[in-house]
Amino acid sequence: MKDILEFRQFVPSEICLSCDGCCRFREEKSEWRPRVAMEEKVPAFFLKDNNQIYSRQNVDIDNYLRVSSCQGACLCGFLKNDNHCAIYDQRPFECGLYPFLITRDESGVAVSAHLSCPYLQEKYGTSEFEEYAAYLKETFATNKMAVFLKRNADIAGEYEEFKDEIARLFTVQANEGALFWEEGLLERQEQVSAFLAKSLSTLSPFHFSQIALWQEHFHFFTRTIDKSLCIFATNHLGTFLYLPPLGDNIKAETIAECFAVMDEVNQGSGVSRIENVPQERLKYFSEEKYAFYEKGKECRYEREDIARLKGERYKSKRSDRNQFLKNNTYEYLSYEPEHKEECLTLLNEWTVSRQRKGQDDVSHAMLLENNRVQQLALKYYQELGLMARVVKVDGCVKAYTFGYPVNDREFCVLFETVDLTIKGLPVFIFNQFVDDPQVRCFKFINVMDDFCADNINKTKMSYRPGRMVPVYVVTKKG
Ligand code: SF4
Repeated sequence: MKDILEFRQFVPSEICLSCDGCCRFREEKSEWRPRVAMEEKVPAFFLKDNNQIYSRQNVDIDNYLRVSSCQGACLCGFLKNDNHCAIYDQRPFECGLYPFLITRDESGVAVSAHLSCPYLQEKYGTSEFEEYAAYLKETFATNKMAVFLKRNADIAGEYEEFKDEIARLFTVQANEGALFWEEGLLERQEQVSAFLAKSLSTLSPFHFSQIALWQEHFHFFTRTIDKSLCIFATNHLGTFLYLPPLGDNIKAETIAECFAVMDEVNQGSGVSRIENVPQERLKYFSEEKYAFYEKGKECRYEREDIARLKGERYKSKRSDRNQFLKNNTYEYLSYEPEHKEECLTLLNEWTVSRQRKGQDDVSHAMLLENNRVQQLALKYYQELGLMARVVKVDGCVKAYTFGYPVNDREFCVLFETVDLTIKGLPVFIFNQFVDDPQVRCFKFINVMDDFCADNINKTKMSYRPGRMVPVYVVTKKG
């Protein structure tokens, strides 16, 4: 988060240090107290000298910095006697931004100026102010900032009561901007992929793409504890461990430390958990201390079954595929960047058609998330090591599918987006993909779980999975 924090400061530090306005609040529960962004909290726990800066002693359950009363005022716990900030280099995003604020009103989310700052008052409307406002506008126009604001929606404060002190400067995009690629992620890819490969898991989340593609929804933070790689994921609800600790021998102490970090960050909100735990790894969790539940089942086919579609049980699939072959002029091709625009059009049409089916809010949100994930994959498929294919019908892209090897026996189909008005095309592309020369060496095809959607479940079951592989979530008892 340091790079997001690194604003060029508007108020010179000698002026800040000689002023006794900031970092002091009228009330203990003042709305003006800075909030810590979720993705600032976990990394701070691993800072060598400051590992408790964002502990529950210093930050309350709503992520506000705690204050202490002193001579009629409430001072930020980090404010030192000499007016310096004790955590200046790690101070929250909001502190770095001040005397500018993220505000929310009926017109949306904006960056505003707090006119109570004496320096800002003096400079307001000058060319120096205008130049800094333009600099902020440019900084807030980045995709990274749009994603940060989306993941930290609570950071935008409603200052209705103080509207006379606030001047709205410009609206910010707190939702999806253009696609965002977190810096530093590719550098971590080699390390993460090496741990994932050694884990030999059969579950689909054990692939780097499953981390990279979800970065707009979760901030991922990796840390090695006792030689195990721990991948924390954070969103506005809190922090959890995305996968069980990765390594040869998972120690009880490692698991305990992961939960200690999550509990401190989440402050007992019940969010702390380890997701995507394969059955064979449950043995690392003592029954005395941990509980687990099944969150879903991944669907796994024998590759040969889908490639051949033989026998009575695949009769209707064969018929659909044959209809497609008979009625269409088609090409099955490797996906290339030149196909991206057509794929995006197909994806957006598909998303809109699903939305029209009157889904509930949760399904609606999942469709949009899925749309963003696919957009990232269409752009970064090479970096992520994804295998990608398209089907053209009459010269136009009408279907595409992406996948990756989970291990040397199992291949995962990440997604498949198809123009459903073309009869038999879904069966055709799935059948071609699993029989592709690059996939033939795998024994099993994993198509992940059904995301609790009946229609997805029905389609996956219609291909007769050989096995349903359970995926567990581990929580702490008591
Ligand atoms: S964290 Fe530092 S800059 Fe922020 S309110 Fe506290 S003392 Fe001030």
